[in-house]
Amino acid sequence: MSASKNKRIYLSPPHMGGNEQEYVRQAFESNFIAPLGPMVNGFEQDFSDLTGFAHCAALSSGTAALHLALRIVGVEPGDVVIASSLTFIGSVSPVTFIGAEPVFIDSDCKSWNMDPELLAEAVDHYISIGRKPKAVIPTDLYGQCADYDRILEILEPHGIPLIVDAAESVGATYKGRHAGKGALMAAYSFNGNKIITSSGGGMLGSDNEEMISRARWLSQQAKEPEPYYEHKEIGYNYRMSNLVAAVGRGQVEVIPERVKRKREIFDYYEQELDSCSGLSFMPEADYGQCNRWLSVMLVDKNEFGAFPDDIRITLEKENIESRPVWKPMHNQPVFKDNTVFGGKVSEDLFERGLCLPSGTAMTADEQQRIVDLIKRCGK
Ligand SMILES: *Cc1c(COP(=O)(O)O)cnc(C)c1O
Repeated sequence: MSASKNKRIYLSPPHMGGNEQEYVRQAFESNFIAPLGPMVNGFEQDFSDLTGFAHCAALSSGTAALHLALRIVGVEPGDVVIASSLTFIGSVSPVTFIGAEPVFIDSDCKSWNMDPELLAEAVDHYISIGRKPKAVIPTDLYGQCADYDRILEILEPHGIPLIVDAAESVGATYKGRHAGKGALMAAYSFNGNKIITSSGGGMLGSDNEEMISRARWLSQQAKEPEPYYEHKEIGYNYRMSNLVAAVGRGQVEVIPERVKRKREIFDYYEQELDSCSGLSFMPEADYGQCNRWLSVMLVDKNEFGAFPDDIRITLEKENIESRPVWKPMHNQPVFKDNTVFGGKVSEDLFERGLCLPSGTAMTADEQQRIVDLIKRCGK
């Protein structure tokens, strides 16, 4: 086995664009190492330009951004907050930080995102028992936008706020707009394996200036405007540091290239493997462009002759990382007592799904090798 064959292929590793180090150098030179500084303001402006949101607050993580969004719309202990079941825990844990109750909605088949018909059912149900949901947080799964307009049609008559979990969909579009735009607020993540990374961080975007000012204030311990430390509310230590923002600024510049490359990677897998009996790929809804953060394949065990986990283990033996689809929240032990509307679609996606290596710096040879290994797992 050659040395290069042993080099680990990760699922979605960081991929620097080139200017990050220069921005970090500038941050050092200005001595804005301590929390805030011009890079933070610059990164927020970059993100407004990208998303079309008039205001953005740079934060320590996507989870923090969602937590603040829930605080800002006034979620309180015991309230109902509706979320996608097929998502990452960071989408839902902030609901529990507040002591509110997450209620889960299954995926639809055409986008794998929150099923609007089940959402309508859930909203009607909770209103009929006098517990109007305080917020709805659909996830843009694997970089594909949820059907915001359809969801807004359901929420607007009741004045229920839409907060999009766009942690995975930086660079994706919905009807020509950037992911998240159209919601009251949207949360983005720059965690290590996302399509762009600042080494960890998040952003909250909105067109409502007051809400984003409040997010900044809550993210810095909610200090009253006094020379001494006065607090009338409890806040958090959630602000992004100037050094992290410097890396983020370099990454924003390469988003179009990263989306293009992610989509090429997906197209190649699909072209090579979709014709294999029992293999199929995540659909793209006609209302937008997915960023294909992760290429996701479905495996029909009977037709293909192997389980997704057989493929995962085969790849792992060759030092290649792949990963099951998110395990639905309604099947998580920690949410065993929570309510779910539907559930079968996300359960099926979890059983049959596999996220394939999708790093934008992966070479054509490496991807070819992955494809060959997968083909050999079949009958
Ligand atoms: C990554 C992710 C988050 C959390 O973002 P962090 O920056 O890691 O806190 C939330 N929701 C989804 C769907 C994610 O994929």
